[in-house]
Amino acid sequence: MAIYPFILVKSKAYKNDVVLINHEKIHHQQQLELLLIPFYLLYLLNYLINLLIYKSHYKAYLNIVFEKEAYLHECELTYLTTRKRYNWLKLIKA
Ligand SMILES: [Zn+2]
Repeated sequence: MAIYPFILVKSKAYKNDVVLINHEKIHHQQQLELLLIPFYLLYLLNYLINLLIYKSHYKAYLNIVFEKEAYLHECELTYLTTRKRYNWLKLIKA
């Protein structure tokens, strides 16, 4: 879990998981570009709308636009060096 500037993990073993850490760093960038509080509000609102649509916690979570960007690019360890700001906007469904 990423709460800027911290990354919270369930156990010490996860500290060495580069994909997980990259995923959370992507969230840090999303949080910074939305000035933190708006990020958390949009994240929660997106989750609640998704919950109405998908009627499943897991599907609602996976379809949060911020999660979509993070999961899509978490294995690209250099993603944050080339990422354009607000790149998550491209993943919003029309
Ligand atoms: Zn995430």
